[in-house]
Amino acid sequence: MNPEPRIRLEEAAKRFEGTVAVQPLNLSVLAGQLVVILGPSGSGKTTTLRLIAGLEQPTQGKVFLDGEDVTRKAPSARDIAFAFQMFTLYPHLTAEENVAFPLRAQGVAGEKARSQARELMERLGVLAFADRRPGTLSGGDQQRVSLARALVRTPKAYLLDEPFGNLDGALREEARDLLRVLHNERESTTVLVTHD
Ligand code: ADP
Ligand code: MG
Repeated sequence: MNPEPRIRLEEAAKRFEGTVAVQPLNLSVLAGQLVVILGPSGSGKTTTLRLIAGLEQPTQGKVFLDGEDVTRKAPSARDIAFAFQMFTLYPHLTAEENVAFPLRAQGVAGEKARSQARELMERLGVLAFADRRPGTLSGGDQQRVSLARALVRTPKAYLLDEPFGNLDGALREEARDLLRVLHNERESTTVLVTHD
């Protein structure tokens, strides 16, 4: 038996005007795997995640999820959660509302979404900021809220772009350990990008 990979890139490439962001790339990630893509700045890591998420269309090649060609599908149709390097928290929502947002969007009832959001925020050490707006938080705190938002639901895959970039020392270790624990608990599929 040879199940389809959860994520598969087939000769997927991306050019922006004169720039080659990603050269034709073949990549398979099996369900349950945690794959790390390591490379220097400018090597195309973020673009690769954006191709998987559907935030960019490849200029050639294809993207498959569980064997289905999703190359032309919208991000919302792909059931993938992502946390990007640049914070994309909603500025007008509180930290807790941000974290609960993906659950609410899926139709999870208010109280349940709230308790799941708060549980994850606690595990990431940001529950104390539940009622604050992102603009009032430090970079590291915003990053952890962002991570909580990405991890709050159980999608087909998680894409994490430099998720520890704004954390140092003990906070970085804790976030890394927690990610490993959550990955094992949920048997989730994760692609993590880092230059370090
Ligand atoms: P990394 O995440 O590894 O630092 P990126 O995927 O962000 O790399 O970028 C790869 C290359 O593509 C870089 O040369 C970058 O300048 C270029 N690039 C990325 N996004 C765009 C864009 N939207 N428009 C033009 N060039 C881009
Ligand atoms: Mg990047």
